Amino acid sequence: MLIKNAEIYQAGLNDLRVEQGIITAIGRLSPRPDETVVDAFSGALLPGLHDHHIHFLSYAASWASLDCGPAAAPNSQVFAQLLQQQTPGIEWLRGIGYHESIAGDIDCHWLDQYCLNRPVRIQHRSGRLWMFNSMGLAILKGSLYRSTNPPTLPAEGLRSGRFYDADQALASLLGRQLPPVSHASKKLASYGITGFSDMTPSNDRDTLALFQQLQSQHLLLQNIRLARRSVLDVADTADLTADALGPVKIHLHENRLPALQDLIERIHLSHTAGAAVAIHCVTEIELLFSLAALEEAGSIAGDRIEHAAVTPEHALDRMRALNLTVVTQPGFIAEKGDTYLRDMAAADQDSLYRCNAFLKANIALAGSSDAPFGSADPWAAMKAAVTRRTTSGQTVGRDEALTPEQALALFLGSLENPGQPRRIMTGVSADLCLLKHPWSISRTRLQSEDIQLVICKGIPIHQRAQLFEKTS
Ligand SMILES: [Zn+2]
Repeated sequence: MLIKNAEIYQAGLNDLRVEQGIITAIGRLSPRPDETVVDAFSGALLPGLHDHHIHFLSYAASWASLDCGPAAAPNSQVFAQLLQQQTPGIEWLRGIGYHESIAGDIDCHWLDQYCLNRPVRIQHRSGRLWMFNSMGLAILKGSLYRSTNPPTLPAEGLRSGRFYDADQALASLLGRQLPPVSHASKKLASYGITGFSDMTPSNDRDTLALFQQLQSQHLLLQNIRLARRSVLDVADTADLTADALGPVKIHLHENRLPALQDLIERIHLSHTAGAAVAIHCVTEIELLFSLAALEEAGSIAGDRIEHAAVTPEHALDRMRALNLTVVTQPGFIAEKGDTYLRDMAAADQDSLYRCNAFLKANIALAGSSDAPFGSADPWAAMKAAVTRRTTSGQTVGRDEALTPEQALALFLGSLENPGQPRRIMTGVSADLCLLKHPWSISRTRLQSEDIQLVICKGIPIHQRAQLFEKTS
């Protein structure tokens, strides 16, 4: 593939060739016979973005579980609209929290009016009743028919799609449902994301195997790296790709901290096995506790502080001395800033989700979404890092504002070394994000709508318009 007339980020206007997933040439290049050509029309070409802290399966599940409670759906019309808004697909639409005050005792016929092309199951808020549409019911019946040891399901339920207290039977027939990972992965691709670190604390060898299987089935399009529960969990997984193994995730909770010595030993055990640690710190106490443990255990390259939601000035030198990387979520300033301003003491507000202070202190800083607990759109996060503005327009920690280039850099680090931005050059994997406008314009907009084309390992994983041309 040849990308013509791209404004290569921090390198100027040029052409770029991709072969076998690698950038093989940058310069003024002529198309070869049969080569696919993309004209970038001077749009900025960036390294593919990386989300350095996400919970991918939960993010995918968030697309599948529709809030059907009375607050989200106060009446039957709104509920019907909710069902219709969901894209048809082969994956289940799973609704939760339904109450009959919304649309009465609904059954498969009622659901079919609004969602016929996708299997649906809606759970009553009591948790005791599931309501299926006809496509969902058909899948259930197919599974019942194929089962060698079928569970008993009432005939009335198989007619109406309503099943009371049948969770075990339903689970045995439907199995553990995989959330709509393909949809979630495509959504991330549409934001320019070509790689992410999944920081879910319960990740184990099964999770890694699942992610790698999803990649091989092309349901998961991004490069991945997984934090893990412990080094022992995946110690002897020679069959699994080692570079997908991230740090050991340590989840601290201020109100039930472990003994300091236990944390020191856990860090030491990880380091001895060659694994860095990523410690969850959302309060000042959690951060100071972690720093005390790391100072005792010693730090290694790759050790990270997740969130660093509250960082007092005096902690900065200690973090620098330990050579830690901070993985923050600037998007929370926009999304949750109003709540912080309301609930936090004014004196603490300046230490909230700091950005510039880390850069000034020479601490490696990387960005992430923490999706589904924050928006997965890194452009919204970049905008928040630049403006420091909340949804209602208030400002949080003005001194922590970044330039658009610094904000972009938060998402350009490699998965292994998130604080060190990658650059587009020959010989590296073709993980690229092409924008509609040159950077001088894009930097004032910072919006995912400007993304034209996203390439991961040389393969387009998202494109906005028909950009490709084939030379003859
Ligand atoms: Zn998280």
